[in-house]
Amino acid sequence: MKMDLKQLFDLVGEKQEIDCDFDFSNEKLYGTAPFTHPVRVTGKIENRAGVVRLVFSVKSVLSLQCDRCLKAFEKTIDYSFSHIVVRELSNADDEEFDYVVCADGMLDLEELVRADLMLELPTKVLCKEDCKGLCPKCGKDLNLGSCDCKTKDIDPRWQALSDLFS
Ligand SMILES: [Zn+2]
Ligand SMILES: [Zn+2]
Repeated sequence: MKMDLKQLFDLVGEKQEIDCDFDFSNEKLYGTAPFTHPVRVTGKIENRAGVVRLVFSVKSVLSLQCDRCLKAFEKTIDYSFSHIVVRELSNADDEEFDYVVCADGMLDLEELVRADLMLELPTKVLCKEDCKGLCPKCGKDLNLGSCDCKTKDIDPRWQALSDLFS
């Protein structure tokens, strides 16, 4: 989706609301396609005192698979992003802002949302922070309880340590 920002660049006080859904269902992440639900983007882009600032939030429900226990689960995401939109970067521009360059005054919002989202998503997918995963030996989901093979596999170097605490 391309937004025409030519007028917005020229008129101080000009503003455009953003409210749209994107379909990222073809997008791959960690070998799966997690965007089974529409990605909702709301926000605004505004020219304030000649500075064009874009702020938006991205909401969706992702279908993911836990890296440890392989369970499929859904995760609600709600991220916020902000950018300063410029026609060209100048050396004076502050590094701390996340600039988007629109030389022709056209902003590809879909592309920007996709890039922001990919950077924001965690690289490790866990169904919960303390997921215990599967037993490497019998494959049992250790979140549901421990298995019999677990204790026998302790590294001998750790055995002495674990004896101290047992
Ligand atoms: Zn898990
Ligand atoms: Zn086991």
